[in-house]
Amino acid sequence: MGKVSQEQVNGLISRQMNDWSLAGDNYAALAGVKVKRFEVNGREVQVQFNPARIVSSAAKVDDKSLSERRCFLCAANRPVEQEGLAWGDLYTILVNPFPIFPRHLTIPSNDHKPQRIKGRIGDMLGLAADLHDFVIFYNGPKCGASAPDHCHFQAGSKGLMSLPAGKVDGRLIKGDERAGIYRLLNWTCQAFIIKATEQDAAADLFNQLYAVLPIHEGEDEPMLNLLCWTENKSGITEWNIGVFPRVKHRPSCYFAEGDSNILLTPASVDMGGVFITPLAKDFNKIKASDIEAILKEVCYDEDAMNEIENKIII
Ligand SMILES: [Zn+2]
Repeated sequence: MGKVSQEQVNGLISRQMNDWSLAGDNYAALAGVKVKRFEVNGREVQVQFNPARIVSSAAKVDDKSLSERRCFLCAANRPVEQEGLAWGDLYTILVNPFPIFPRHLTIPSNDHKPQRIKGRIGDMLGLAADLHDFVIFYNGPKCGASAPDHCHFQAGSKGLMSLPAGKVDGRLIKGDERAGIYRLLNWTCQAFIIKATEQDAAADLFNQLYAVLPIHEGEDEPMLNLLCWTENKSGITEWNIGVFPRVKHRPSCYFAEGDSNILLTPASVDMGGVFITPLAKDFNKIKASDIEAILKEVCYDEDAMNEIENKIII
């Protein structure tokens, strides 16, 4: 038995579309959003022109800015129109009023605690099982989270990102078909995929991988983005976790002056194949080569991934 049903979540979304004009207007605007499509490394990616996402893409996430703003994920500071659906005792499911997906949720913990995945992968897998129409995602505190001081997941309806849609190519590096870690092949960037038919086995493999990911100086969590979803294969649930190790938060084009500036903060959704540009100037000029350059800059290269792989196998 899950903690909520997909039907309860659908009910929450319909009520918020009717009762909360900010959400209703932004979801209506999303339906007419402009999209460009490119091929990167043989895979189709989308670029979405989404002005409402400026609040997230340009979010100031330094300690000083965070300490001076009221946390928008704490229950006391949320808009009065925003309704919450409890997921057990620890989390609350909310409709995200600045959507990328036709159905987009934010799932904060009930406590104001820093964004960390350690000790929470079981929660993420549990959410993926309950919200089986969604992909659950986690942005590390320096990998796209706009509230790095308040732990949260997000969820987007399946079918927008090119991951997990369609066949995913992988090379098994640890475990077996029932529970294994794979290198993701033929993708836009370097990543691992964990697949398991038991939730605990998926969590265990994630913890093994997490333990060997490099941690940058002065930080206490490896930089990463995670996508997590379940699939029903002939009546058997399969848990999937896409693990995208990161070397950098924002690419150099984010800080560049003049025409070379592109305001894009890569996060889990971008790793899944959907790139968000909140400004028209960037949407109009961005090319496949810009996306390739951004991914090259913020993700691990093949050699660094091989090193991680060798540590997992030992
Ligand atoms: Zn908070």
